[in-house]
Amino acid sequence: MSQTNCLFCKIRDGQIPARVVYRDDTCMAFEDINPQAPTHVLFIPLKHISTVNDVEMDDRQTVGHLYTAAAKVAKERGHADKGYRLVMNCNEDAGQTVFHIHLHLVAGRPMGWPPG
Ligand code: 5GP
Ligand code: ZN
Repeated sequence: MSQTNCLFCKIRDGQIPARVVYRDDTCMAFEDINPQAPTHVLFIPLKHISTVNDVEMDDRQTVGHLYTAAAKVAKERGHADKGYRLVMNCNEDAGQTVFHIHLHLVAGRPMGWPPG
């Protein structure tokens, strides 16, 4: 479940502080340290999964759970009507820098498409 030297496992375990905004028995969420919008929250599974390439069939509920948790927080923060973006980067070309999967909830400003 845990990977040595994984930043987000350490946040999950309370070894590194974070501004936690949501937690249940499957996932947790905390404020991004370098927010790119008024709301920028990261949703992680409690189980360590390095990249989307490593998601297995048994993980489908866990990964889907990240979306329902993110939608809940987005709604609570008043972003449901104007909208928000949910992004999970995978590996180098997408810009993944922390290798414990995380769903970015970005909201509170208009965003362009396609992403850079
Ligand atoms: P990625 O580029 O892997 O999709 O996203 C990693 C995210 O983690 C970045 O948005 C970055 O700002 C955030 N991040 C990196 N280190 C920390 C940290 O120590 N604490 C928190 N809360 N966020 C972090
Ligand atoms: Zn981890």
